[in-house]
Amino acid sequence: VSNEAVQYVQRIYAEVQKRDPHEPEFHQAVQEFLESITPVLTRHPQYMKHGILERLVEPERSISFRVPWVDDAGNTQVNRGFRIQFNSAIGPYKGGLRFHPSVYLGIIKFLGFEQIFKNSLTGLPMGGGKGGSDFDPKDKSDQEVMRFTQSFMTELYRHIGQDTDVPAGDIGVGAREIGYMFGQYKRIHGGHAAGVLTGKGLLYGGSLARKEATGYGCVYFVQEMLSARGASFKDRKVVISGSGNVSIYAIEKAQQLGAHVIACSDSNGYIHDPQGINLATVKRLKETERLRISEYVKEHPHAEYVEGCSGIWSLPCDIALPCATQNELDLESARTLILNGVQAIGEGANMPTTLQAVELFLENQVLFAPAKAANAGGVAVSGLEMSQNSMRLSWTFEEVDEKLQGIMKNIYSRTVQAAEDYGVAGNLVAGANIAGFLKVADTMLAQGI
Ligand code: GLU
Repeated sequence: VSNEAVQYVQRIYAEVQKRDPHEPEFHQAVQEFLESITPVLTRHPQYMKHGILERLVEPERSISFRVPWVDDAGNTQVNRGFRIQFNSAIGPYKGGLRFHPSVYLGIIKFLGFEQIFKNSLTGLPMGGGKGGSDFDPKDKSDQEVMRFTQSFMTELYRHIGQDTDVPAGDIGVGAREIGYMFGQYKRIHGGHAAGVLTGKGLLYGGSLARKEATGYGCVYFVQEMLSARGASFKDRKVVISGSGNVSIYAIEKAQQLGAHVIACSDSNGYIHDPQGINLATVKRLKETERLRISEYVKEHPHAEYVEGCSGIWSLPCDIALPCATQNELDLESARTLILNGVQAIGEGANMPTTLQAVELFLENQVLFAPAKAANAGGVAVSGLEMSQNSMRLSWTFEEVDEKLQGIMKNIYSRTVQAAEDYGVAGNLVAGANIAGFLKVADTMLAQGI
């Protein structure tokens, strides 16, 4: 690694911190990326000469807006909405919307930044974007969610379009929210622009296997990683945090592959079921009834519910899939997992592992599947949903699932190859960053400033 590359990267990082001092999650995402990319800059100094990194860390466009809505008591509430259009080099901006009280500009920027490279890895033509609001859909009535999402779209519609920017779901945004937003977009915009949102319901242009895609994709990726070491999910003890869309379908696929999934969680605590998680119960509680995971033990009294989330990593397991939220797996949890003999980590959530924890896993030769690669299945099938919308037809579940498997295998091999090519064999964190970066950087060079 050249001194020039190291100094360049340090300068970019210092500038990012100076320009936006109060965005630690964005800094974290940028830091991890920059550390990975120094071998590339050493071999190809033209990226430095053309300011590729200066351009990459600054969103093309960043939109913040007021979202007023009326609650069930008749009071007016105001939330803040965001859409960050980070990079459109390889296609229309693409990325989810997150509705969660923790949302502020720094969260949306970290997610949008990672989305650039994740989308590039899928091999499909999608740029990077992300959006959301600090609105908390939890404990809100259906009518309140509808009024909020309609107000959100009343501003967002002017910034999106099926060829410019295509939002989807993320934490707090599922089929219900996408449905209300799609309806509002249609009313305002006029005409049925099916491809303006993905994650739509199956009745009006959604893709089969989109709901399953992130969780299934994560398990497919980890399966590739395991099989390179002659291992598999069969009979392995697996802990999967979260109980949202990613977690539920990671549990489903892991179970189909013969794994023994013993725990999952929500933002209040975790359940440990030594007999194996009953997925039908989790689906009903979370997808239909929108209740807390603690309810699980009422139906399965042999299982245990424990308050607090990070305790889930103290359960001994062979494979851990953090599928809840950013920075949920810290250094201490990583130490415990390693002491308990964990063999593989697969990031289903975005940036769920802290930088220090990632480093410890890599030092200890724990197989580590980074989010950009491992959770790219969701946005990949969003890309396939856009394709189907453009063609005005729909593929079967099997067809989409087969394409998803192909995409995840391809991401795995490109990630492994990129790490090898740049002298960091086995480090898939670096491999994913490098492989994702090269396509975007070369496109930016080709298209000029
Ligand atoms: N929110 C998902 C992600 O983090 C999916 C985005 C999409 O489908 O556009 O990749």
